[in-house]
Amino acid sequence: MQPLPKFEYREPGSVAEAARLLAELGSRAKLIGGGTDLVPSMRQGLYTPAYVISLQRIADLRGVAWEDGVGLRIGPMTTLREMEASAEARARFPFLAAAAREVGSPQLREMGTVGGNLCLDTRCRHFNQSEDWQDCVEACVKRGGEFCKASPNGRARKCFAVFSADLATALVAANARVTLQSAGGARTIELADYYTGDGASPTAGRPDEVLTEVLVPSAMQGVLGTYLKYRMRQAIDYPIAGVALTLRPRDGRVHDARMVVGGISSRPVIVKGLGALLEGKVLDETLAESAAKLARKSATPLANTAGDRAHRKQMVYEFARRALAEAAHAAAGAGGGEAR
Ligand SMILES: Cc1cc2nc3c(=O)[nH]c(=O)nc-3n(C[C@H](O)[C@H](O)[C@H](O)COP(=O)(O)OP(=O)(O)OC[C@H]3O[C@@H](n4cnc5c(N)ncnc54)[C@H](O)[C@@H]3O)c2cc1C
Ligand code: SF4
Repeated sequence: MQPLPKFEYREPGSVAEAARLLAELGSRAKLIGGGTDLVPSMRQGLYTPAYVISLQRIADLRGVAWEDGVGLRIGPMTTLREMEASAEARARFPFLAAAAREVGSPQLREMGTVGGNLCLDTRCRHFNQSEDWQDCVEACVKRGGEFCKASPNGRARKCFAVFSADLATALVAANARVTLQSAGGARTIELADYYTGDGASPTAGRPDEVLTEVLVPSAMQGVLGTYLKYRMRQAIDYPIAGVALTLRPRDGRVHDARMVVGGISSRPVIVKGLGALLEGKVLDETLAESAAKLARKSATPLANTAGDRAHRKQMVYEFARRALAEAAHAAAGAGGGEAR
């Protein structure tokens, strides 16, 4: 591991001050939450910001709180450990607390934040390498080159690096929204729309914006949720496929179902047609089978992270089946709502 490149460190005491700094410093600056992703990337020479702006001193950006009629408000500087332990999250959306627990290791979760997880950089075996390694090969699209080496013929001009954030995938399934603040004002968008699908520029956040709040709307109260993660090792490891499912059981039937697959593409992929397929129906074996096949169809992983492509695609089917089985079980009143 190489030493950190030189940079100037700033610790604003408020969001307004952080936004002002970003407006002033532009793309020369990078925000840092817990630093569990940014610091290793800087050591690898993937990013060399002249300024690093820490959000650690901004108390307003921390905490998980429920507000009637609004929803579950999550501060982006809430650590993953705080998220997994939050009484409000566990009581109202236990699958979100459980998804936070799926990230990395206890040490990473002590430092890593919810905001950092949502803004996590995409990963690719051709990009997340040391500077020395990178110096020996031709630059790909994400490094400013012409072609993507991971694309099937190596000639695509787009980056397909993979978004592998566990909690983000579960939060998209929870219909979460995020607020982005710049010196010019704030805007709130659906978390699903925050992801562009472009591996080289994976979020719609501008360099002058701070993500200041995550909101799970109060309308989501009462949904059942599950997040299931497939990884190479049962220890510290990114998801190479992660399946999140939310649905509302009523009168023994499924309503408002949403399935999201992470770790297979440059954004969390919402399984198209799944909600319509399940709406108002009893979730039996045949229906679960059709829904899991839809999930598999939506997954088109490339060979740019760990795991064989075909195997990962099949695991999306397997995990979708399991998530649906858990949901059917939980809907029948026998518990559930956890992540595995
Ligand atoms: C060994 C290892 C294993 C890991 N395993 C997993 C895993 O299993 N699952 C998983 O999901 N992740 C994993 N991670 C990635 C990372 O630890 C987590 O995603 C964590 O949540 C990142 O949070 P952070 O606060 O440390 O992010 P940082 O490193 O501080 O920031 C990450 C990015 O987000 C931006 N950012 C941070 N906060 C904000 C904000 N409020 N507004 C705008 N931009 C912001 C930063 O500028 C940076 O680009 C792993 C990392 C390592 C090193
Ligand atoms: S997906 Fe392609 S462009 Fe993106 S980092 Fe990998 S090789 Fe580079």
